[in-house]
Amino acid sequence: MGRVRRVAKILRRAGTKVELGTSEELGIPRGFVGGMHETEGGILNPGKLTRVVRRALLESSARVFEQTKITDVVRTDGRVVLSTPGGQVRAGRVVFATNAFAGEWDITPRHLSVPLWVIEVETAPIDPDRLMELGWTSRSALVTQHNIMENYRLTSRNTIVFGVRRIERGKDFPLPMSEKSPDPALVDELAGAFAHRFPSLADVRVARSWGGWIATTPSWLPVAGQIDGDVFYSVACNGHGLAQAPYVGTLIADLLVDGVRPADLDVLWADKPRFPRPFMMSPLGLRRPGPSTASTTWSTGVAGTLARERSGLRHPRERAARRPRNAASPTPPMRAQPLT
Ligand SMILES: Cc1cc2nc3c(=O)[nH]c(=O)nc-3n(C[C@H](O)[C@H](O)[C@H](O)COP(=O)(O)OP(=O)(O)OC[C@H]3O[C@@H](n4cnc5c(N)ncnc54)[C@H](O)[C@@H]3O)c2cc1C
Repeated sequence: MGRVRRVAKILRRAGTKVELGTSEELGIPRGFVGGMHETEGGILNPGKLTRVVRRALLESSARVFEQTKITDVVRTDGRVVLSTPGGQVRAGRVVFATNAFAGEWDITPRHLSVPLWVIEVETAPIDPDRLMELGWTSRSALVTQHNIMENYRLTSRNTIVFGVRRIERGKDFPLPMSEKSPDPALVDELAGAFAHRFPSLADVRVARSWGGWIATTPSWLPVAGQIDGDVFYSVACNGHGLAQAPYVGTLIADLLVDGVRPADLDVLWADKPRFPRPFMMSPLGLRRPGPSTASTTWSTGVAGTLARERSGLRHPRERAARRPRNAASPTPPMRAQPLT
C-alpha cells in the first residue's frame, strides 16, 4: 500500500479527490488488499459515446466523408492539400485527430507519439451469486499499480472485462489493422492473471478478446499543437482518451473559432513541434519497472494493491523464472477458449 499512499498524496496535492481504504472499505474484491478510490467520475460506455457523437456529427451542417483514408498531406500555394484515393481536399486550416495513426504522413512531427497495441478480454457471463460473493459492491473499475497495468471491470452483462498487462510497439506505418488479432499467448497470460486475482472464478472461461492501437507520448500526457499556423493536431491520450479526446477536441474547436487558446489547452500545448526520443517506449523501456501510471486510471475507479503482494506471492512469470529448470510447468488455472 506504500506506493498507493504516495500516489494518493500527489493526487491530493493536485486537487483530486481520492480516498484510501481496505478492499472491504472500498467494496472491491478481496483478492486486493485495498487501494485508492478516485471519488469523482464514472464509467463510460465507449460504444454508446461513439454512436451518439457520430449521430450528432451527421445531423450537423458539416460534410462528412466516412471510410475515406487520407493518404498524403502537403502544402501547396498556401493551402493544405489532403489526398485520398477518390480525390483531393484543399483547406485553409486542418485539424488532425488520427491518434496512433498520425505517423503515416511526413507532415507529422518526429517522435510525436509511439503506437502501442493493447488488448482486452471478456469472460463468459458469470452467475450473479458468484459475483456477489466477490464483495465487489462498489462495482468500481480497477487498475493495478504496475507500470503496465492490468484493469478489471464488471459489465452490466455479468461478465468481467480485463486487459493490457503487456504491450506491443508498432514498428512501421501503416499499422496493421484487420489482419491483427490478440496473441493467444497473451490472452492465456491475462486469463492466468485473472484466475490469480479471482481464485473463486478460476473456472470461468474467456469468451472473447480484442485489441487496438493507442498513441503514447514520452511524457505520458496528451499533446496538442500547431504546425506552421494552418495544421492543428491533437493526439495521444495514452490509452485514456475516451473522455479526454472529445474534450481536447472541443478546446481546439474553440481555439479555431475564437482565435484564443483556452487555458486548459496550455498544459498540453507543444509550442514547437519538437519531441524527445521516447525512451520509455523503446524495447528496453517497455520492460523496465517504472513509475506507476495507475494514478491516471482508465476508468475512474480504484487503483488496487494486490493481495499477492501482501502475501509474498509472486507473479506467475517470476515464479516460473525461479522454478528449477527441469521442474514441470503447472497447468494454468484458467485457459482462454478459442476466440470468436
Ligand atoms: C483495447 C483498448 C482499450 C482501451 N480502453 C480504454 C479505457 O478503458 N479508457 C479510456 O479512456 N481509453 C481507452 N482506450 C483508449 C481510447 O480508445 C483512445 O484514447 C481514444 O479512442 C482516442 O480517441 P481519438 O479520437 O483520439 O483516436 P481514435 O479513437 O484512435 O480515432 C482515430 C481516428 O482516425 C482515423 N484515421 C486514422 N488514420 C486515418 C487516415 N489516414 N485518414 C483518415 N482517417 C484516419 C481512424 O479511422 C479513427 O477513426 C482503449 C484503447 C484500446 C485499443
